[in-house]
Amino acid sequence: MHIEKTFRLDEERRQDLWQKLIRAIEKYLHDVTQEAVAPDPNVTAIRQLLQKFTFETPLSPDEVLEQVLTGLWHHQLHISHPAHFGLYNPAPTTMGIAGDLLTAAFNPQLAAWSHSPFAIEVEQHLVRMLAQRLRFDPASIGGIFTSGGAEANHTAMLTALTHHFPHFAQHGLRSLEKQPVLYVSAQSHHSFLKAARLCGLGTEAVREIPTDASLKLDVDILIAQIGRDRLAGFAPFMIGATVGTTTAGVIDPLARIADVATRENLWFHVDGAWGGALGFFQEFRQQVVGIEHADSVIVDAHKWLAVPMGGGLYLTRHRDILQRTFDTSATYMARAHDDRMDPAAHSMQWSRRFIGLKLFMTLAVSGWDGYRQLIAHQMSLGNDLRQKLRDDGWQIVNDTPLPVVCFVDATRTTGSSPAFISGVAQTVAEAGKAWLTTTGIGGHAPVLRAGIINFLTEARDVDVLVAELHQARDAVYAQLASQ
Ligand SMILES: *Cc1c(COP(=O)(O)O)cnc(C)c1O
Repeated sequence: MHIEKTFRLDEERRQDLWQKLIRAIEKYLHDVTQEAVAPDPNVTAIRQLLQKFTFETPLSPDEVLEQVLTGLWHHQLHISHPAHFGLYNPAPTTMGIAGDLLTAAFNPQLAAWSHSPFAIEVEQHLVRMLAQRLRFDPASIGGIFTSGGAEANHTAMLTALTHHFPHFAQHGLRSLEKQPVLYVSAQSHHSFLKAARLCGLGTEAVREIPTDASLKLDVDILIAQIGRDRLAGFAPFMIGATVGTTTAGVIDPLARIADVATRENLWFHVDGAWGGALGFFQEFRQQVVGIEHADSVIVDAHKWLAVPMGGGLYLTRHRDILQRTFDTSATYMARAHDDRMDPAAHSMQWSRRFIGLKLFMTLAVSGWDGYRQLIAHQMSLGNDLRQKLRDDGWQIVNDTPLPVVCFVDATRTTGSSPAFISGVAQTVAEAGKAWLTTTGIGGHAPVLRAGIINFLTEARDVDVLVAELHQARDAVYAQLASQ
């Protein structure tokens, strides 16, 4: 009784907690716009707050909730703010939040079909529908939800190794005569390097192919590098193309890369963590022609599809490859039959939470057309932002249809200096009305970068950003001149 009270709380306190919790969530959704976008990075304040948590004397649920809310309100970047123009994490959808709350409460275990048939069928239903929208053949679709894009890219590398080297799964890399190598662009995400380490390949196995002037993977250099590697005794096995690079939102030439992969007999992987969502809609298909030839595609539901973190998705045209890669046939698990699948035998996770529910519930309420409208709106706002920045004398330095804009000030020689670029970003952040990042584009000097990420972002927020940048620019020039 005492133990139950400690962990489940008595009914009255529970009811009270739920009410306060829901009110706190609603207040956050409502009032986050009033807050400064950037966090208070005051580490002393945070550690002071934590000092009362010695866990010697139990606190009341109310007090704990209040302290945690204080910490979250004041000490995080508010990605839910409509003037957050940072990397690809949007405000979470309300149905997504509801899905995650239910997932926590019902806590289905998705390792084995027999334990959570409904949850697993929901996820596999989504896998099939999403992969079909990429024009994968329905008869050969496979896929799994992941914690995010990093795990999904890691999964892709493992499946490519398993597919390409028949002895890899049993005998490992050391059974291979030649060192396997893979190809991505120099603008690709760093999770490929991490995955190469985790696979035991080492980062040197990742050939980072230079990009052309528009920051796309240079296919001629790719072809030449594959030839050189074969001559030198390496074993190429995979090419990873990106839809929406992290730095500049660039889309690699998928159709040409697909041709190279076919000709060279390499696994063709598409990292669409952010931009891959375009492939789900007829309206945007021309941007990602060639994605239908991919052996595997990853898309993060927690990026353009705006569900709470983490929700990644790995999709493949090779129905049996996940099982061949991950199944270790543990005898202590009930086995699923026919087309019912056990996620533990199809992924690197074992105990597994219901990742797909937040997407399922959001999609059920928005419909495909809701997401189509969201993407179209953000693409259009991205174009507006580009135009407004140009009108105010900024120079756009990336070339992409996606709503992410990299820019410098072309009007003065110091307008692309590191001190100016970081000074502007910092000045905007400190004013608190908007937030953007800086980045280096392929070894070049830093640039400013603003992405339209949030479904709450509207033209008025774009105007706020442009005005804040205008002010910051003057302030930073004055400051640099006085030094
Ligand atoms: C975000 C991103 C990743 C990593 O995904 P996580 O969900 O953060 O693990 C990989 N590739 C690209 C292109 C990304 O944008």
